[in-house]
Order: sequence, then C-alpha cells, then structure tokens
Amino acid sequence: MKAFCIDEPGKYSFKEIPEPVLREGEVLLRVKKIGYCGSDLNTWRGLNPLVKYPRIPGHEISGVVEKTASGVPGSIRVGDVVTAMPYTSCGKCWSCLSDRPNACKNNETLGVQREGALTEFVALPWEKIIDGKGLGLRELAIVEPLAIGIHAGKRCAPKEGEFMLVFGCGMIGIGAIAEGIRAGAKVIAVDVDDDKLGMVRAIGAAHTVNSRKENLAERVAEITGGHGPAVVLEAIGLPETFVQAVDFVAYSGRVVFVGYAKAPVTFDTKYFILKEISIRGSRGSGRPD
Ligand SMILES: [Zn+2]
Ligand SMILES: [Zn+2]
Repeated sequence: MKAFCIDEPGKYSFKEIPEPVLREGEVLLRVKKIGYCGSDLNTWRGLNPLVKYPRIPGHEISGVVEKTASGVPGSIRVGDVVTAMPYTSCGKCWSCLSDRPNACKNNETLGVQREGALTEFVALPWEKIIDGKGLGLRELAIVEPLAIGIHAGKRCAPKEGEFMLVFGCGMIGIGAIAEGIRAGAKVIAVDVDDDKLGMVRAIGAAHTVNSRKENLAERVAEITGGHGPAVVLEAIGLPETFVQAVDFVAYSGRVVFVGYAKAPVTFDTKYFILKEISIRGSRGSGRPD
C-alpha cells in the first residue's frame, strides 16, 4: 500500500509499505481523510522535537472499518464509519496511575513517535475506535483537534456568567470556546482572522476581538468592566500571548496554556503572586472529551 512519508525536514516521498497484519483485538481501517495538524507542519519544518525521521504523519483520522480481528466487540462492524484516538499511554507513569492518561509521560502519538495514518490502511486496538455515526468523513477528521480544545476548555473550569478569554480560534480554540459556551461563560474570542471570528460568533461567543485591528487591552478592559476575564486560555503558542494571558487575567483568576510556545517565554512573576492566579497546562484529550 502507499504511504506519504516525511523523509527529513522539507522532503517527502510516496512509499510502498506492507499492509498491516491484524493482531488479536485490532481493527483494520481503510483511511478516508486525514487532517493536517500544526504538529505535522512542524515535523515538515523540522521544528517538532518529538519526531524522528523518516516519519509517516497523520493522527486526525476518519476511516471505514475494513476488517476486525478476534477479540473485537461485535459493536464494531465492517463498514462502520469511525474516527480513532491516536494516542498510546504507558499505563505505568504517575499520570496513567492517576487516571489521566492524556498526560502520559511516555505517550506515543500516531505520526509523531509512531508511524501515522497517511496511508491506505491502519491497524489499531479496538479501544481506540470511536463510532462516527451521524458525522461525515471530513467532520470526523477534525474530532481529534476539537477534543483537545474541549479538554482545554474543561481545564479552564468555566462557570456560568464568567468572562472567559480565548486566544486563538483555530480548531483547538473553537473546541474550548464551545466548552465555555456550554458552561454558560461569556466568551471573549481573540484572533487576527475575521472569518474565524465570524465562525465563533455564530456558535455563540459573546465578544470577538481582532487583535490586529483593535486595541486588545482596551477592548478587554471595556468588556470586563476593568476586572479582566476570570479565566484566560492561550491556544496560539506565541510568547507574546503567553505573557498577555497573565497580564489580562483578573485578580484571583485562572490561566490555562494549551498552545506550544516555540521559544522560551519571560514572565514578570510578581503577577503570579499579586494576582494569586492558578496556572494550568492542558495536554491532548481523553475519550470523555
Ligand atoms: Zn494534532
Ligand atoms: Zn503513562
């Protein structure tokens, strides 16, 4: 079967590789659509520290069940349209033992530490398969990044009536915004792209700010009556917005980081203390997300 392979930064090839052989408890998927993640782009650019080359990318998957091995529950049937969780946790580290496998110390993700799904077929343990009934193949391929956003939104612990500021309205930002809206928070969505801002307004973001066209600090102060948002999520990964998250958040507020900063970030740490803020990371997603 054919596979798309990133041979080294900036170089790719189509390779002929053997079809996977199913083991007990595994499901063979015929791959239909693969989302191309920012982390794949970083692999292409040579900026993904977790990747070794050559690597087949692809972890945002939609596919059709082609075959099931013995040990797979009857609820998973040939012809089912599905998506899949691309992570494999170790089961032994502190996160795994604390029932938080999404933050596994030894996690392996398809297309990152393992060969990914930009191939014709992929074999996965049945526990990774998620039924896609009611969703199209394109929609199923964005379930994974949206789930990361939902998880980040939950890490924000938004409450009814609170202001929740989200930096970045990509797939992860949108997932978090949806979670904020579900919890009844008043979401302030920030991006530089008016189309993305229009989309999050359509799903119920209370306020949108184009930070390239408007004075963000002024708008945030105006919207929140000078208090700042109770919770801020950074879903871009820019050092500048990492710092703004701490600057903008209300006294005694919460800051959550889900974007990967590509450079070290310098903070004036006195605001951690003066504001008595809670700072949290958010990583990946779990099946409930
Ligand atoms: Zn991804
Ligand atoms: Zn682990």
